Amino acid sequence: MSEMVRSIVIVGGGTAGWMTAAALARFCGKGWRITLVESDEIGTVGVGEATIPMIRNFNQALGIDEADFLRATQGTYKLGIEFAGWGGRDDRYMHAFGLVGRGLGLLPFHHYWLRARAAGKAGPLGDYVLNNVAAYRNRFAHVQRAADSMLPPLPYAFHFDAGLYAAYLRRYAEARGVVRVEGRVVDVERDGGSGDVAALTLADGERIAGDLFVDCSGFRGLLIEGALATGYEDWSHWLPCDRAVAVPCASVRPLTPYTRATARKAGWQWRIPLQHRTGNGHVFSSAHMSEDAATATLLGNLDGEALAEPRMLRFTTGRRTRAWNRNVVAIGLSAGFIEPLESTSIHLIQTGINRLLDFLPNGSVADADRDAFNRLTAFEIERIRDFVILHYAANGRTGEPFWDALRTMELPEPLANRIAMFRANGRIVREHDELFDVAGWVQVMVGQNILPERWHPLADQIDDAQLDQFLTTVATAFARDAERMPDHDAFVARCVATPQPQ
Ligand code: FAD
Repeated sequence: MSEMVRSIVIVGGGTAGWMTAAALARFCGKGWRITLVESDEIGTVGVGEATIPMIRNFNQALGIDEADFLRATQGTYKLGIEFAGWGGRDDRYMHAFGLVGRGLGLLPFHHYWLRARAAGKAGPLGDYVLNNVAAYRNRFAHVQRAADSMLPPLPYAFHFDAGLYAAYLRRYAEARGVVRVEGRVVDVERDGGSGDVAALTLADGERIAGDLFVDCSGFRGLLIEGALATGYEDWSHWLPCDRAVAVPCASVRPLTPYTRATARKAGWQWRIPLQHRTGNGHVFSSAHMSEDAATATLLGNLDGEALAEPRMLRFTTGRRTRAWNRNVVAIGLSAGFIEPLESTSIHLIQTGINRLLDFLPNGSVADADRDAFNRLTAFEIERIRDFVILHYAANGRTGEPFWDALRTMELPEPLANRIAMFRANGRIVREHDELFDVAGWVQVMVGQNILPERWHPLADQIDDAQLDQFLTTVATAFARDAERMPDHDAFVARCVATPQPQ
């Protein structure tokens, strides 16, 4: 390894590779050489269309204009995820972005809701979540609030065509000096002394040397696993789905501003509305359903006419034991994978990139830096894992072997403790920088019928009439807000209309 890290080589040109390249191009100005190697022959995983609100921070950091981005990626807005058939076969609820209700004093809103509910005076929790109210009316707007407003904003994310997003970021990165090399990596050369990766050899014999390598090669983990044999922690015993079959379909109107996840016999089906098509896919456990049966289930439940043949994807849920090993940093599928139930993979790419920028070595890589990077990465993905497990563990689908087994499995300890605490007194304690906030956990717990026996004692400080008025005010304000918003379809159409020259 040279004295100063100045040459970074990214292997892979999927969403992870081009997001990394774009961010490095944006922030590593003079003196850095960024090279991205990708193989057209191998291609990308070709899925990954739903995001969470933090993606906007990424785009903003790159200076990407939202309308331009939506035009280029056939994007739509997303206010949350609807879960159909999870709490029970006929149940549905939404994990909507943003707050539940609004604050009153010290307490999160749901403690007041629990008290009102016990008295038979509360509507469904979703009536008090602005994103939920707007999403089910197919409404969307950029909600501006005055600084002193008591009402929450309307946080949003996007659905987009991942291939088009990667192409967009490629244009961005290449315009800022990233060098793209097309070719298949056939050999990885290690430094005889340090054991670090020294260079890659492509099928045509070209040699690409670098100081730091970012492995964005997808599930295969070409460098982190193929060359360094880092190891993989398998979480299939908690999240047994190991296949997905995907089919793009013709666009269906109206464009709903939310993702739908519908529980099926041995997994679940996604529906993601884009401008030009609707993404449909079925995530399932191959131990409980054959690939043929899963494909038939998907094709029998499509929303829109199929535009291509079904594609089967195979994966093992888990994480790379060290995301940063020697001079290789894994970002994207090479670092680990949790099924797309809460649309978290692209977010993990984004936080991986943030962390890489935070820990960018000035010279050789310090062990302490690498260890901290790996600790933070592990903590983040483990908490996301627990949140996803919660959806399965709290299912109400009795009589189906897949679901029965998940309802009774032994849970990771932090998740078991969290459920027990919520059940007892409605409390959710968010630790460190974990991704999902109190509102997210509460919506999924309540949505899947984990209802606390008690609420925070300070929720008893107001009298019954005040409580009633508080809840009514919130629900009325949100319904009124949503009614004033334009249809999501119309909002998208206006947003992506080509600007007229002045
Ligand atoms: P890939 O897309 O697999 O890219 C790998 C790259 O490495 C390619 O360019 C390939 O050519 C290159 N490569 C590999 N080997 C070599 C070699 N030997 N030489 C040269 N190049 C090589 N995420 C979300 O956030 N939201 C979602 O809704 C979502 N849905 C998903 C649904 C499914 C079924 C799956 C499996 C994943 C989903 N994801 C989702 C995850 C998301 O698709 C990925 O996180 C994202 O696409 C990043 O993939 P990647 O770039 O790491 O890998």
